[in-house]
Amino acid sequence: MIKNYFDFAATTPLDPRLVEIWKEYSALPLNPSSIHQSGQKARRLLETARERIAEALDADAPSDILFTSGATESANLALRGLVQMTSEKKRVVTSALEHSCISETLEALEKEKLIEVTEFSLTESGFIEYPQHHVGADIFCLMHANNETGTIQNTQRAKAFRDESKSLWVCDVSQSIGKLPVSLKAIDADLFLISAHKFYGPPGIGCLAGPGLKKLRPQIVGGPQEDNRRAGTQAVALALCFAEALEFAQKELHERTLKLDKLEAIFLDELKNNSVPFLRNGETPRLPGFINLSFQDREGVDLVIALDQMGFQVSPGSACSTGVVAVSPVLAAMFPSDELRAAGGLRVTLSHHTTEDEVIQLAQAITKILTPSPSKFGSTH
Ligand code: PLP
Repeated sequence: MIKNYFDFAATTPLDPRLVEIWKEYSALPLNPSSIHQSGQKARRLLETARERIAEALDADAPSDILFTSGATESANLALRGLVQMTSEKKRVVTSALEHSCISETLEALEKEKLIEVTEFSLTESGFIEYPQHHVGADIFCLMHANNETGTIQNTQRAKAFRDESKSLWVCDVSQSIGKLPVSLKAIDADLFLISAHKFYGPPGIGCLAGPGLKKLRPQIVGGPQEDNRRAGTQAVALALCFAEALEFAQKELHERTLKLDKLEAIFLDELKNNSVPFLRNGETPRLPGFINLSFQDREGVDLVIALDQMGFQVSPGSACSTGVVAVSPVLAAMFPSDELRAAGGLRVTLSHHTTEDEVIQLAQAITKILTPSPSKFGSTH
């Protein structure tokens, strides 16, 4: 396993137990649309993967799983697919919590004059704030667990809002799978976004899931695959690795959580013992192994660069929005009048493979950066 990597919310390495599956099936000519024997075999394997995923996620039926390249494609298909079903302008409710795959798709649809967007505010603790008055909506975007602070939204409350507003609920569960017991039936959203590389599966595969699949207009056309809902030859070997990673994640959830909780406590204790002042962003309920901190007078980006030079890989916020370093929209919405705190966010996300030694060393490296060394010229007084 890679050492001193603390950015498992951005992506996880492939579980080494999947390498054999990948080797075996990626070496075969598997096109599920071909009618010869290899094609029939491919179809059987693909449908088995779909059944296993449906079972592991507690979906209503395998037909509620539509393979995509990941959560971003799923978000585009869900939002564009729902909006384009009929010609009326749709009302969408969202918040700053959403990942750019949702927020930027909504921005594009708004520019195309296909939707009007209402944004609910966030509490300082990192939860969506519902207004007192009735709000009607066609589409409601609320993720399960946030990718910057790890806060877990109340799904019962979200369901009540979906019912009151008579909307369709698009729920991004990319961060919660593998870290929480996720049952699609229990959450009861209309559409779910999932990416396999967030739980030690391969990148490039995921799904859009849920009963709302029947209400979508296809976005990628040019073939009959996925029941005419997403054209293009399916990646059978990737789908098998996706199913396997998901089963491991569900089976090992309890022990992984215990380990993550322990590592998190060791890391925070080490910072406290070293008298490093910090504020934790995002309150409980929160994903295990998910730590977002703001440090006094230090921008998160500066810390990320300094830590990287010392060999520690962390994130200033959402990895998908780096490259362009901007203040996190999630922290900015949580702390609208505290720019320093919003700019100070440093995200440390752990794995069950992370060692105690690694988290202690990370805390020590942060301490070293934040504790000014005494001047060699001594005091001027
Ligand atoms: N949704 C959330 C909450 C994420 O954290 C990410 C990735 O960072 C995505 C969606 C996008 O996933 P992908 O890049 O696999 O499409």
